[in-house]
Amino acid sequence: MDTRRTRTGTEAGTPAATSARAGRRLAAGTSAVALLALVGACAADPPQTRAARAALSVTAGAATGTATATPTPTPTATGPEADGEIPDGRAPSPFDTATPAVGNLDGPLREALQRAATDARAQRIEMTVTSGWRSKAYQQRLLDRAVTRYGSLEQARQFVNTPDKSAHVTGKAVDVGPTDADYWLIQHGARYGLCQVYANEIWHFELLTRPGGTCPALLQDAAG
Ligand SMILES: [Zn+2]
Repeated sequence: MDTRRTRTGTEAGTPAATSARAGRRLAAGTSAVALLALVGACAADPPQTRAARAALSVTAGAATGTATATPTPTPTATGPEADGEIPDGRAPSPFDTATPAVGNLDGPLREALQRAATDARAQRIEMTVTSGWRSKAYQQRLLDRAVTRYGSLEQARQFVNTPDKSAHVTGKAVDVGPTDADYWLIQHGARYGLCQVYANEIWHFELLTRPGGTCPALLQDAAG
């Protein structure tokens, strides 16, 4: 949290901020063609994000295969879902407030996401919540699994925060899917105050600016 604030503060005069200001001047003063060119440039992925997207596509493909193999999901006990887990095969929308992962999101974040989802749907992009609010216990389980998977806490922390640091635990972060919705939100999220936070997580968004504002520079990963 403090790290991000510091980085945001120190980057006020960086090329990114300068280019954002240039963008506003362009938007105000020059042709739509120039603006479109600028939007295109903003949509270009940094290489690490492209790699993350490729990895995500593979994961998404695998998940689809699993879902097809088990067409009838086992009824889930209320326990894990009450902790913010989203059962396999479920893809709640940002409006599905009966799902604790969505219903326990911080109000302003959820409302911003709902506005974005409504506009995305008008462009035939369906937005789902792949993970939202999480209890501390669930966050710890995720971290434990990541430590097993990546071999050390240090490695795991690049992908999963500790319960004390995760914005999911306070309901102030949401993971969005599928991939086309992530692309859409990366491009248009700032209109709603929603920002991608980590370069290696194209799906993770937080309310980090005012609607129409400028998102802080990306952090490399959750360990940053
Ligand atoms: Zn996340």
